[in-house]
Amino acid sequence: MSVSINDPELRAVADKVLNGERLSFDDGVLLDERADLHLLGQLANTVRERKNGNFAYYNTNIHLNPTNVCVYRCRFCAFRADLKDEKAYTFTDDMLRDRVLEGRAAGATEIHVVGGLHHKKSFDWYLNVVRVIHETCPEIHIKAWTPVEISWFSFITRKPVRWILEQLVEAGLGSMPGGGAEIFDEQVRRQICEHKADSDVWFDVHRTAHELGLRSNATMLYGHIEKARHRIDHLIRLRTLQDETSGFQTFIPLAFHPENTELSEIPKADGVFDLRMVALSRLMLDNFDHIKAYWIMLGEQTAQVALGYGADDIDGTVVHELIYHDAGAKTPEGMTVEQLHRLIREAGRIPVERDTLYRKVIRNGREWTVGEPLTAVRA
Ligand code: SF4
Repeated sequence: MSVSINDPELRAVADKVLNGERLSFDDGVLLDERADLHLLGQLANTVRERKNGNFAYYNTNIHLNPTNVCVYRCRFCAFRADLKDEKAYTFTDDMLRDRVLEGRAAGATEIHVVGGLHHKKSFDWYLNVVRVIHETCPEIHIKAWTPVEISWFSFITRKPVRWILEQLVEAGLGSMPGGGAEIFDEQVRRQICEHKADSDVWFDVHRTAHELGLRSNATMLYGHIEKARHRIDHLIRLRTLQDETSGFQTFIPLAFHPENTELSEIPKADGVFDLRMVALSRLMLDNFDHIKAYWIMLGEQTAQVALGYGADDIDGTVVHELIYHDAGAKTPEGMTVEQLHRLIREAGRIPVERDTLYRKVIRNGREWTVGEPLTAVRA
């Protein structure tokens, strides 16, 4: 690939990308502040195709938010509720079973579980959520609880994070999602989510999970009060832990949705900003295999275009997403496999169904088995 660039500093960074060299903090800030979308996209697409060829991955999954009651009051959150709010809800065991059976009937290979930190629920209640799901449908992979929840469990039980994770794994936990990362910069974090787990805790929980053999994802919330230097710092902190553990699978850049939040005066990130973040993530996170364009958050069209701007994964059928919809997302609450295929094919990519651990799913209707790992699909 050849790129025509007049700015000598940008040219030097582009050459590093083309030569497969790691980008520094300064390189990242320069790209974030000065590179146009076209250049970012061209460079990120080169890296994306080096890593994942022409494939675009998706999964068949279902979301579950067992409660929206939360002790915290993150300023960007439209999902949480107080105990006595009209919109407050908490799942019973029967509701959990119904949701899992619905997922199984739809052929889901994964259930994604996150929610609020309920004032009155003990760790056993959260443990039971995992256990009930696992006992109802052991073949569905449970990806559950962010470090925010895990550190809350550790706080209320006075037990170490490792012990909490071991209990959850025994109950059926398969991996961890990437949420709760927001922005790691301590000053920004204090302004948008003062009380919840800080960045050191976030990293400690993921490090411990990786040491126990769990894989996890990572996210970044952009488009609120953060600046380029905070975004690049965030990505480099993730890259550093990945060098240490190799436990992360996918990075998901998440746009802040202002509607119904305390920060509703901030305009929502536009499509150009979204694509820039996908591309920058791909360029900075050289040791992450996958960058996800989360269609629920981006919208179907931007997610589709993102497959040419560094993303190789589009998440899944989802079903029952609440968190972004409470904050005004206009996307549907789920998509069929056929719709996902069409979206990926129209973007010029080849759809491949993966399970949570990025193994190829071999499907016969709603029945499925796991095939070769995706490195073999790529070959
Ligand atoms: S983002 Fe999570 S921790 Fe923060 S208020 Fe919302 S539900 Fe609670």
